[in-house]
Amino acid sequence: MRERDKLQKFLVESCDVRGHLVQLDDTWSEAVARTEYPAPVRQILGEAFAAATLLASTIKFDGKITLQVRGNGPIHLLVVQITNERKVRGLARWDEVPESAQLAAAFGTEARITITIEAREYAEPYQGIVPLEGDNLAEALQLYFKTSEQLPTRLYLAVTDTTAAGVLIQKLPTEEQTSYDEDGWQRASVLCETLSDTELCTDDTETLLHRIFHEERVRVFDAQDVCFHCSCSRERTDNMLLGLGQAEVDSIVEEQGKVEITCEFCDAFYGYDAIDAAALFKGVSSAALIDSEGAGGTPDITKH
Ligand SMILES: [Zn+2]
Repeated sequence: MRERDKLQKFLVESCDVRGHLVQLDDTWSEAVARTEYPAPVRQILGEAFAAATLLASTIKFDGKITLQVRGNGPIHLLVVQITNERKVRGLARWDEVPESAQLAAAFGTEARITITIEAREYAEPYQGIVPLEGDNLAEALQLYFKTSEQLPTRLYLAVTDTTAAGVLIQKLPTEEQTSYDEDGWQRASVLCETLSDTELCTDDTETLLHRIFHEERVRVFDAQDVCFHCSCSRERTDNMLLGLGQAEVDSIVEEQGKVEITCEFCDAFYGYDAIDAAALFKGVSSAALIDSEGAGGTPDITKH
């Protein structure tokens, strides 16, 4: 049986190509456990989980990367976030069920894809925005790579009921090339296209890489774990409420008798009664800290 929730880097030496292969199993099951996603939404969310993991694998960073798609179609928001430790979380929000997982049908014609990298080594967060073009997320992200990086990049994404998987290959920069095979890049791209979605989601890494590149020279590195994990916490929720200010929080408590916050990513529940709310603001100046992350990235006060 193949290993679960792994990210595998490899090098196709004879093609001067490096690659990243990911298969998300428990990570993917946990991500969709709390929400009944309609099939097309689930398909695109799964592709986004695999894509964000692959994207993170191509970058050295100490922080987090957020892949976000916003549009004017049936799905209005899709967001997947991954840390440098490969802890990933994500969600999608839709107003109506899209007819298909084709991008224009799902997000409308005005959609954009935004990649944000917040990392310790960057003074400011890096943000890249490209229009959401192409039939599927893999095509749209290839456009992102084309505009943000000079290296030719190809992505292949697949989703089944139990697994979200993907392969990303990138042509090596000239200074790292060793085989100088002019057809290498083209050959690797075509070879990857021969994989079926089922193979990509089901087969183990060794079988997959052998199936694709059996006539090439391939070097495989140690596999890395990926898991579902949400960074929300009581402390972050406290900070979000402090950011809202005492007057606002008091008015909610007065109206509702309490403040209740549910994390949209993982369904964690944070409740505050009148005493909790008062304790929170005790001794805090009006210049309260604002945690930009709130509870799970999208602060949302659920009023019951
Ligand atoms: Zn959470």
